[in-house]
Amino acid sequence: MTPSLLYSGLALDRAHRLRLDADLTAMLNAGDARFVPFWRGRQLVDGTPPAACRLPRDRLPAGFDVAAAPGLLLGVAADAAPVLALDISAVDAGDDGPEMGGGRWVSLRSVGGTLAGDDAALLAYARGMLVWRGRTRHCATCGDGLAVADAGHSLRCLRPSCGALHFPRTDPAIIMLVTDGDGRALLGRQPAWPPGMYSCLAGFVEPGESLEEAVAREVWEEAGIRVLSASYAASQPWPFPSSLMIGFTALAEGGEPNPDRHEIEDVRWFTRAEAAGFGEAATPGPAGLFLPSRDSIARHLIERWLGR
Ligand SMILES: [Zn+2]
Repeated sequence: MTPSLLYSGLALDRAHRLRLDADLTAMLNAGDARFVPFWRGRQLVDGTPPAACRLPRDRLPAGFDVAAAPGLLLGVAADAAPVLALDISAVDAGDDGPEMGGGRWVSLRSVGGTLAGDDAALLAYARGMLVWRGRTRHCATCGDGLAVADAGHSLRCLRPSCGALHFPRTDPAIIMLVTDGDGRALLGRQPAWPPGMYSCLAGFVEPGESLEEAVAREVWEEAGIRVLSASYAASQPWPFPSSLMIGFTALAEGGEPNPDRHEIEDVRWFTRAEAAGFGEAATPGPAGLFLPSRDSIARHLIERWLGR
């Protein structure tokens, strides 16, 4: 196994077999249940550095009906206690979020890199599941309502003549560190990024293409550069909202990059010496250039190429 990238490396037993015949309501009401709460896109941490909260029932808002809220089994802890994700967005509160015994509500992106790996993976898993749940209100086949199945890991259409099952989405996206025969790397930037940040090219996989084909297509579309070969490197869950980043290294023909000016506003070849001089967002290097944050697979691919 390659080292886990942030948001992977979950320590929890996902208890797949338990999902199939478990009574979710009974688990939500179990005395030893632990809850990973979610409120309007934010998650609960406490302490410094932050740690993910796994709350006992008595730290939930008074009178909160756990069985009526969107919830699902994440897995089983080492002490056999069920660990459940729980969406408490229905609870009214100010900007600071509901008071839950001292924790603070944060966006996962804002704290991800400061969490222990297991906690980052737990919050990413809970976030991915509950965002899917929140966005899946009706059957995509017939429009009817849905019932929870598999302890929250699938939703079944209520219309008997349909009965379609709906599963959590994971959208495959490829991201690649492209080099040429001279050992230079192709890095670009999207218009929406902070000025000065350069990173790997990336894009979503389309129906009817392999991952390697997606790598070649995206590099051609975004940079006008032909890829000769691509090799899998690593992957990273990216639940913002539902991606799996699949990292590649790719060898390309050289040539002058031609950015598409739509998704990519600039793309250039950089030598190792040039890229090694890039700084961080808070402390940019020469010409104000800096690399993506250390929690990203893009940074992992670049660091690996730099041999750092
Ligand atoms: Zn249906």
